[in-house]
Amino acid sequence: MHFGLSEEYSALRESVRAFATDKVAPVIGEFYEQRKFPYELVRQMGQMGLFGLPFSEEYGGMGGDYFALCLALEELARVDSSVAITLEAAVSLGAMPIYRFGTEEQKAKWLPRLCRGEALAAFGLTEPGGGSDAGATKTKAVVDGDEWVINGSKCFITNAGTDITDFVTVTAVTGTTEKGGPEISSIIVPRGTPGFTVADEYSKVGWLASDTRELFFDDVRVPLANLVGERGRGYAQFLRILDEGRIAIAALSVGLAQGCVDESIKYAHQREAFGRPIGQNQAIQFMVADMETRAHTSRLAYYDAAARMLAGEPFKRQAAIAKLHASECAVDNARAATQIHGGYGFMNEYPVARMWRDSKILEIGEGTSEVQRMIIARDLGF
Ligand SMILES: Cc1cc2nc3c(=O)[nH]c(=O)nc-3n(C[C@H](O)[C@H](O)[C@H](O)COP(=O)(O)OP(=O)(O)OC[C@H]3O[C@@H](n4cnc5c(N)ncnc54)[C@H](O)[C@@H]3O)c2cc1C
Repeated sequence: MHFGLSEEYSALRESVRAFATDKVAPVIGEFYEQRKFPYELVRQMGQMGLFGLPFSEEYGGMGGDYFALCLALEELARVDSSVAITLEAAVSLGAMPIYRFGTEEQKAKWLPRLCRGEALAAFGLTEPGGGSDAGATKTKAVVDGDEWVINGSKCFITNAGTDITDFVTVTAVTGTTEKGGPEISSIIVPRGTPGFTVADEYSKVGWLASDTRELFFDDVRVPLANLVGERGRGYAQFLRILDEGRIAIAALSVGLAQGCVDESIKYAHQREAFGRPIGQNQAIQFMVADMETRAHTSRLAYYDAAARMLAGEPFKRQAAIAKLHASECAVDNARAATQIHGGYGFMNEYPVARMWRDSKILEIGEGTSEVQRMIIARDLGF
């Protein structure tokens, strides 16, 4: 038993690492400062096939798997999290529901452009009234003739308002289950559908070069054929999508945590205090050793969850463990890296400042740390 990567995985990791270092690192600070979406980088990521990584060639994908996506996310986030979350949300939340649950027509219509990165899709689950309790959806969809009529709103939706966003898949209550609970279904709402409004970009703390929007649905009409999968299966669908997504967010968190190690080692060698590099102090060395330990153990956790998922084994608990551990590790590493940088760590020109701002959301998005603990405890029989 060993955790070495195959030649294919290694080659992918190297090419994404080179892209992140050579193409993303030199320009992303400016996009971040100006809160601009990096269309040109996204186009290049599309050309590299990153948006099609886990999808079959039949739909324009690369024929890889979910672990390949995770490796790419880790390498991107090692340099910048805005581009990493753009890829994560586009693939894991935007395209994956169509790939896993969509009809052949939906796959043929939407997936090729998504796989090439020419278009993005978003997944609208969270509502202003609450995200953790995702079953408490208030958005409603009713059948009128051969159309769904959707009313409600969604908040914090990634990739929902870019110039290249094609559609948002939204969860909505479409009736009542036999047990009397809400029947939830997923429905595709194409961009530009009358009554579908996308609000201005939020003023965020981090992920400043990624796109996050509030969405409003006012008598929005879409064909019945825009239902994704079976009616009433929306809840089960998003549970699956979120279970997988947690592994991806864990990978992204590991990338950020490792980037903090990289930057800290570099800085500790060059910065001098009291007549010698600060890295010669054991206090600094131990901080970096702890950071590396956290990044390494978090990586093993997501590798394990991904391996179980690809083997078709249960992976819910392991995905939650990986997401919980890795996101908390990212926050801890970002705090330590900023500390090692002293006052410069508080200046936006240093990558660790960006990493610090970008780390906190990892403990919140795609299930908060409390939600991960609830999932783990439930799986342990509580
Ligand atoms: C930048 C960004 C991008 C996002 N992208 C997307 C996206 O693309 N699609 C999407 O659908 N959503 C997205 N989200 C939403 C995100 O998933 C939610 O913010 C998250 O799930 C938490 O929901 P909430 O914000 O409503 O917090 P709440 O659910 O209101 O939780 C508030 C606090 O209460 C805690 N809490 C809640 N219930 C319990 C409980 N039973 N026990 C203990 N503690 C509890 C939570 O852990 C949290 O600490 C995004 C959010 C952000 C900020």
